[in-house]
Amino acid sequence: MNSYVERVLEIAKKRDGNQPEFLQALNEVLCSIEPVINTSDKYEKNGILERLIEPERVIMFRVPWVNDKGEVVVNRGYRVQYNSLIGPYKGGLRFHPSVNLSVMKFLGFEQIFKNALTGLPIGGAKGGSDFDPKGKSDNEVMRFCQSFMTELYRHIGQDVDVPAGDIGVGGREIGYLFGQYKRIKDAYEGGVLTGKDICYGGSLTRKEATGYGLMFFLREMLSHHNQTVAGKTVTISGSGNVAIYACQKAVSMGAKVVAMCDSNGCIYDKDGIDLDCIKDIKEVRRGRIKEYLECHPQAEYIEQRAGDSAPIWKIKTDIALPCATQNELTLEDAKVLVQNGVIAVAEGANMPTTLDATEYLQQHNILFAPAKAANAGGVATSAIEMSQNSMRYYYTFEEVESKLERIMINIFNACKAASDSIGQNGNYVAGANIAAFNKLANAMIAQGIV
Ligand code: NDP
Repeated sequence: MNSYVERVLEIAKKRDGNQPEFLQALNEVLCSIEPVINTSDKYEKNGILERLIEPERVIMFRVPWVNDKGEVVVNRGYRVQYNSLIGPYKGGLRFHPSVNLSVMKFLGFEQIFKNALTGLPIGGAKGGSDFDPKGKSDNEVMRFCQSFMTELYRHIGQDVDVPAGDIGVGGREIGYLFGQYKRIKDAYEGGVLTGKDICYGGSLTRKEATGYGLMFFLREMLSHHNQTVAGKTVTISGSGNVAIYACQKAVSMGAKVVAMCDSNGCIYDKDGIDLDCIKDIKEVRRGRIKEYLECHPQAEYIEQRAGDSAPIWKIKTDIALPCATQNELTLEDAKVLVQNGVIAVAEGANMPTTLDATEYLQQHNILFAPAKAANAGGVATSAIEMSQNSMRYYYTFEEVESKLERIMINIFNACKAASDSIGQNGNYVAGANIAAFNKLANAMIAQGIV
């Protein structure tokens, strides 16, 4: 291993040894950019890696609120303002019990690279809370969001830091957060949050963007290897924002999606998933995926047992799209997928594939689309939402979709060019990391030691 990379990884391990997700993300990125680091000592002389891995600022705060029973509940809030090299901090908010500093830092670190790949002027950040919106009433969610924003507002702004949604933060939560921000600031700063509803400054196609973008990237990758999406069988983990719109675009490209899941279990419908039914369960009723059986009793429901690997990856498929959460596709799952003849895996979620599973898939010549490139369509469209807010203007659905498609094609081409440049044709993990790193390192050198 390059001695500079090794030294920086050692520093991180010593400092943050108790942050496994963060160290996992660092390992993947730093190891794959080694061929670039080997070409010049300018990276070490300018302390590029030491500076890149350290967030500019980490904010942690108390979020007290009162539940419907009148009890006081205290959650923990976070905002990791990782890097503002190329634009205001930008990245989603996640509300999920698994949120901790390690998860926030891995997501923030990945976000810097992803945002650089979009070609748009946005820095990297992530935030959230260990609050679980599942099972809470609308009023509880509102009170929580208002309390969360009562602290967060002083750290964000449309030219400073622009949060968006992520797991557990959809249109409802963004609405409550925006309302409280506007009330405190007594000003209409529309560009302070993205993922807003279209009726108060949101962008058409933002809701669909991550899933659609994933499919555009996948289509480019397959086409470069003389394959098409049409006619393929697809399995998609999750049934949230990313999964639903990946499914919609996959079907419109001629694929058949046969399975989706939530954290309780997986639905297998060999005739093809009825997406309207999934949308009704998840977007309207906020129910569980098992309810799919009520309208499609012929489908199969496989329960997710605690400690067992995810049932969805045992289903035979041509294309697997992990769109739920980090480390959901393990080495064991990768082996089953390969055995069952998978040809491509494209990551809709952030870091859903473990490092050893990624390596296994690549060693078996499975086309692999890494998250920071393949799911960048969401944040890219958030940046398009910000620019519409600045212009006080709305693009049509078609205009935003065509900009998104162009961005995803550019991202694929950048990843391909970077992987070719190190003689690793088809290694889009290295390609994505290197393409983003080159841009960030140049900006860091240009801006001096800050
Ligand atoms: P949502 O909250 O809308 O959906 C998450 C989905 O994943 C739910 O169906 C959830 O099920 C499921 N899930 C969560 N944990 C598990 C688990 N352990 N096993 C199986 N299923 C699980 O989130 P999003 O769709 O917005 O985000 C999904 C992923 O995509 C995240 O990694 C996020 O960071 C990433 N992402 C999202 C973007 C966006 O624009 N929304 C942009 C870029 C990346 P349940 O309801 O049971 O919890």
